[in-house]
Amino acid sequence: MNRPRYKRILLKLSGEVLTGEGGYGIDPAVIQSIALEVKEVKKLGVEIAIVIGGGNIFRGMAANARGMDRVSADYMGMLATVMNGVALQDSLEKIHVHTRVQTAIEMREVAEPYIRRRAIRHLEKGRVVIFAGGTGNPYFTTDTAASLRAIEIGADVILKATKVDGIYDSDPLLHKGAHKYDELTYLDVLKKRLTVMDATAISLSMDNQIPIIVFNLNKKGNVKRVVMGEKVGTKVKG
Ligand code: UDP
Repeated sequence: MNRPRYKRILLKLSGEVLTGEGGYGIDPAVIQSIALEVKEVKKLGVEIAIVIGGGNIFRGMAANARGMDRVSADYMGMLATVMNGVALQDSLEKIHVHTRVQTAIEMREVAEPYIRRRAIRHLEKGRVVIFAGGTGNPYFTTDTAASLRAIEIGADVILKATKVDGIYDSDPLLHKGAHKYDELTYLDVLKKRLTVMDATAISLSMDNQIPIIVFNLNKKGNVKRVVMGEKVGTKVKG
């Protein structure tokens, strides 16, 4: 009864969840509380890989809209995810959680390059592996990186952390009557054009039948609840 539902998880943290009041950058208190949540789940014996976003620092599409070359802007976005990855590593190591950061773009002085077998080995040894740099390619997102890495490392589930309780038919922060879905199929998400993850990430997950659970990270203990199999958030599956 009290055993975790999943053995290996891929936690997707967008850059946005690291911000405090200002909506930009990294709030030390916020990142520390996320690290504590991760530690709680680690104690259950679950293997944890994390894909970190960069939207709290730099978004390629936004810079592109303001006139910057898309590819250069996307590389800046990918570099932003590395900053977040290193910050998260620092917060985790401070509370004695062993970690490795692996980057999709090589920068060996900062972190290990992404090597799938090595990442799996780290997980088996109980280390939390943080994947930074997205997929390493412009025109992609860290949500797609989350689907890709989850499949590559054989994760049981993708846990997509957000600031709302799950997937709604309209933005719950803007519309009072927004309806929350408990379960959806990948095709529902694509057909209804729900913006929870981009279409590439959803279709990659669909083709490889990896479930996605979208949940609210702001509620304390939620990551653990999801991992223990409680009905939290919205589940997307085939
Ligand atoms: N990015 C990219 N390729 C990837 C992942 C990310 O080019 O594989 C760039 C893109 O410019 C994006 C930025 O990095 O806007 C930050 O990633 P994302 O927007 O996915 O972060 P999040 O929304 O999760 O904070």
